[in-house]
Amino acid sequence: MIVERKELTLLEKTYLPGIAQGIRITTKHFIDTVTGRRKVTMQYPEEKWTVPDGYRGAPYLVKDQEGRTKCVSCQLCEFICPPKAIKITPPGPSVNSALGGVEKCPEDFEINMLRCIFCGMCQEVCPEEAIFLMRDYSLTGESREEMIYHKDKLLTLGGTHQDAIQKWKKKESEAQAQAPFH
Ligand code: SF4
Ligand code: SF4
Repeated sequence: MIVERKELTLLEKTYLPGIAQGIRITTKHFIDTVTGRRKVTMQYPEEKWTVPDGYRGAPYLVKDQEGRTKCVSCQLCEFICPPKAIKITPPGPSVNSALGGVEKCPEDFEINMLRCIFCGMCQEVCPEEAIFLMRDYSLTGESREEMIYHKDKLLTLGGTHQDAIQKWKKKESEAQAQAPFH
C-alpha cells in the first residue's frame, strides 16, 4: 500500500507552527512544575514508576506456603526460553532421598538477566506455577556475573506464592487411607 504524503502548506514549510507548538508544550510543563501543579519528571532511580498489576517484569522463582521450592526441574522453561537465558541443574538421584526421591527441587537454577527479554514464556509453560514475572523492570549490576541470578537469589526475590490449589497437601481422605494401622 502506498501512503500519499500530504503536501505541506506554505506556512508549514516555514516550520513556525511546529516550533510554536513545541514552545507551548514546554511552557505548559514549565508552569506546571514551577507551580507544583503536576510533576513531569522523577528522581530516578530513587523514585520509580508504579507498574500496574499483571506487569511482566523480571522472572523469579517462588516458594509454596510452607516454604518449599515449587520448581521440579522439569526443564520446560529452559527448553522454551527464546534467548536461552535459563540453565537448570537438576538434582541427582541421591538428592533428598529422605523424601523417597519425590523431591525434584533443582540443585541450581540460573537466569541470565542480560539475555532475558521478559517474554513470559517460562511462566506460561511452567506446570508447577513455580516461576513468575514480577514487577522489577530495572535490573542493574557491575559485572556480567552479577547479572546471572542463581536459585537462592531468585527464590529470595520471588518470595512465597499464595496458591489457590495446594496440590502437595494431601486431602484428608488420602491422608487417612495412607495412615499406618495401630
Ligand atoms: S521471561 Fe522469556 S526470556 Fe526471560 S527467562 Fe522467561 S522465557 Fe526466558
Ligand atoms: S520453573 Fe517450572 S517449567 Fe521451569 S523447570 Fe521448574 S517446574 Fe519446570
